[in-house]
Amino acid sequence: MNKVDTLIINIGQLVYFKEPIRKIDSNNTVILENAGIAIKNGKILDVGKSEYIKSKFMSENIIDAKNCLVTPGLVDMHTHALFDGSREDELEKKLSGIDYSEILKSGGGIFKTVEKTRKSSLEYLIEKLEKVLSKALYLGTTTIEVKSGYGLDFENEMKLLKVINILKEKYDVIPTLLAHIFPKESSKESYIDMFINQLLPNVARYNFAKYVDVFCDEGAFNLEQTKLIFKEALKYGFKLRMHADQLKYIGCSRLLNEFPIGSLDHLESSPPENLEMIAKSNASAGLLPASMLAMLDDKKPRVEYLKNKAIISLGTDYSPNSPMISMQTVLDLSIYYLHFRPIEALAYSTINSAYSLGLNDVGTIKVGGRADLIIWDLENINQLGYYWGYDRIKTLIYKGKIIRTQDN
Ligand SMILES: [Zn+2]
Repeated sequence: MNKVDTLIINIGQLVYFKEPIRKIDSNNTVILENAGIAIKNGKILDVGKSEYIKSKFMSENIIDAKNCLVTPGLVDMHTHALFDGSREDELEKKLSGIDYSEILKSGGGIFKTVEKTRKSSLEYLIEKLEKVLSKALYLGTTTIEVKSGYGLDFENEMKLLKVINILKEKYDVIPTLLAHIFPKESSKESYIDMFINQLLPNVARYNFAKYVDVFCDEGAFNLEQTKLIFKEALKYGFKLRMHADQLKYIGCSRLLNEFPIGSLDHLESSPPENLEMIAKSNASAGLLPASMLAMLDDKKPRVEYLKNKAIISLGTDYSPNSPMISMQTVLDLSIYYLHFRPIEALAYSTINSAYSLGLNDVGTIKVGGRADLIIWDLENINQLGYYWGYDRIKTLIYKGKIIRTQDN
């Protein structure tokens, strides 16, 4: 018998997806009852019926799933998790109907975060981000994207990307360089000039980010500015993603016709024809239900143009405006606010989110893929979503190791 590091046996229902999902069907979706998994060196060695796994492999470390649901770990494809300070005072203002532009004028909003983050040391920011990443992992997020964007000058954007890269050793974190907003102290032209001539070459030289993201919207980067950054980013080999059509539609998602954008995120203000265009493309449509709710304006994307057609992915959009880090909650909100079925919500938060980040060894269960797995305190996929609003993880396995378990 083959000796392995870990065996998971007696899985009641194992649910995963073989490829990025547009529409769930029996070719791309696996629902296996009475299943087992063999793990070696942090990777999946074999998957099959529990009896088959038990007969083929032996291990000193056997996890009895006791007929529970098992899925891949969750993937958060969009966060702004690295910043200092908090802005709880703005919630009261938002609830009383004060506009974000008013909050900005009174010295609040993103500029408050930028001021605080610039003053923070590298060591302090490592500590701050690690707290968020460990919370995310505890709640089942085994891969997470983190953007820069609260430095807004060369030194501070580099500092933020350095922090994210240092934590890559411990967490599966994907760093993104974000053109977020223009700083107060310099002109738009000089910021774009710095972004293109200093940030892009240096971030490329140190291999500090895989993606360049632009917040293309009213009050942030306009179409021409976004194009300029994308054009230059491609020259350095960066992959592209975009905050598209969140606050107001100014044509941003149309840039998919001109650039190979991997993921267009937000889409709250996208016109139907643009959503149809995204659905026909190979780009991911990134939806962020927690941040939609945090805007308190009832605006949401017209998902009927995306459902069963687009490669929808889900993320938390954790930021100082909406510091909500649980992908379990995102999964719940996508069911109750965007009306996705539990199995769709799972696909969008696992394989599709991984696809949005250009990853193919996580977010799924396959031989040679990473052993990131959740044993849920649930019996089947439909219970995921039926029971909602709380942490439902029984055992979490990250890179083949048990991170937490209720079974003692
Ligand atoms: Zn965002």
